[in-house]
Amino acid sequence: MRRGQRHETTLVFMIVLFAFAASFATIPNVHAQAPKAARHLAIRGVYGGVPVEILDRGASLKDYGINAVWIGSDGLTKAAIDRLHAQGAKVFAEFNTMHASGYLKDHPDAAPIGIDGNPCPPPDGWQGVCPTHPGYRAWRMDAFRKALATHEIDGIWLDYHHAHASWEQAEPNMPETCFCPRCVNQFAREAKVQLPNASPAEIAHAVLSAHKEKWVDWRCGVFTGWVREFRDIRNKTRPKALLGTFHCPWTANERDGAIRNRLAIDLKAQAPYIDVFSPMPYHARFGHANDPAWVERTVTALGEHLGIKGIEGEPKQIWPIVQLTEWGEPVPLEQVAEVIHHGARAPATGMTIFVWGPLSKDRAKLERVGELYRSLQP
Ligand SMILES: [Zn+2]
Repeated sequence: MRRGQRHETTLVFMIVLFAFAASFATIPNVHAQAPKAARHLAIRGVYGGVPVEILDRGASLKDYGINAVWIGSDGLTKAAIDRLHAQGAKVFAEFNTMHASGYLKDHPDAAPIGIDGNPCPPPDGWQGVCPTHPGYRAWRMDAFRKALATHEIDGIWLDYHHAHASWEQAEPNMPETCFCPRCVNQFAREAKVQLPNASPAEIAHAVLSAHKEKWVDWRCGVFTGWVREFRDIRNKTRPKALLGTFHCPWTANERDGAIRNRLAIDLKAQAPYIDVFSPMPYHARFGHANDPAWVERTVTALGEHLGIKGIEGEPKQIWPIVQLTEWGEPVPLEQVAEVIHHGARAPATGMTIFVWGPLSKDRAKLERVGELYRSLQP
């Protein structure tokens, strides 16, 4: 090796080394300012009420790039909706389908029944309702119709549309239900299954062993039937309002197919009735605190599962709801950009943030959200 060559080699080596070191040196600064948005996002929302904290100090939602707000359907008022519309924001209602557990107080026959034939205790305190109770269903449908008829909303999102199970945590608790005589008889009739003339516990055992596949299909069909009826009501009451659903973000095969087997959520079957799917990849809450890329993986998998690409003009859309505030696990300020960028990738065409209350009190985090949302504006 000649001397000159050696110097050149050393110089190249030094440059490569410097570039390598510089690339590391810039990493802490990635979070100091909003990184360039990978793409634009039509809907940039917050979930959990009117952001009055922004408006009351004379700022606008536009200052934060926010153009959609989700409010619980029980909290809808004309004043709130008008105020948001005046800000140029869409107003979407959140609607509790299967978790309006106050109903059980006067209707104990609507409690989900477990494999022993007795009311199944609420797993980790999460109380669901028997999906075939006609009174409960009629009551929820009436409330849904009323929300759409009364309020000038731009859409309504189903929430808690799943079986009696506490899945919104790192380790879900999902008992087998509902083996009430009404469910069991309806299953036998509609799925054309012969069940033994035996005790409730023996019937439950037979259902879960000899007839498991038909049982899962039938049960998913019951929950899909609810969605079909919500769609009909939407069509008749406020056809321009979007019908969305906040749902479990698990893939079809995750946890032995628990999204269908245990939660009774069949997203493909529900798809004809749903305009917008909003998976809930709460990364910190669900055991992925140090892996915000999990948000993007769940959205990608959902797009593949449903054939949604995130391109303009598609009839179905995916708008995830991402976790930016503490729920069991905190979400640090430094992670906000990563979470939003992972949630914003195709096939997502919109997103919203969980949850406004604590976010409104964390000014630094809110300003970071504002920078990022503005960078995602078309
Ligand atoms: Zn039942």
